[in-house]
Amino acid sequence: MQCECGSSYVGETGRTLKTRLKEHKRAIRYDDQNKGIAVHANTTCHTIQWEEAEILAKEQDWHKEVQRSATHQRRKQHHELGSRQAN
Ligand SMILES: [Zn+2]
Repeated sequence: MQCECGSSYVGETGRTLKTRLKEHKRAIRYDDQNKGIAVHANTTCHTIQWEEAEILAKEQDWHKEVQRSATHQRRKQHHELGSRQAN
């Protein structure tokens, strides 16, 4: 999670980046004082670079999906590729 000023906030491990993104966005909307990035964004009026984080999240999913699909049938992989493009 990176701010326009260069500060970055790394969330807890064990959850996907996508989940953390959702939590951070909610934290900022509700001014959650427990989230460093929310406090930072709300007190400095900085813009968090969600797009970059979202691209990272997609890449993370992509790698996971490729690994999982490698053990599956090729047809299944095609199906998953198709659903992702639909999103
Ligand atoms: Zn900042």
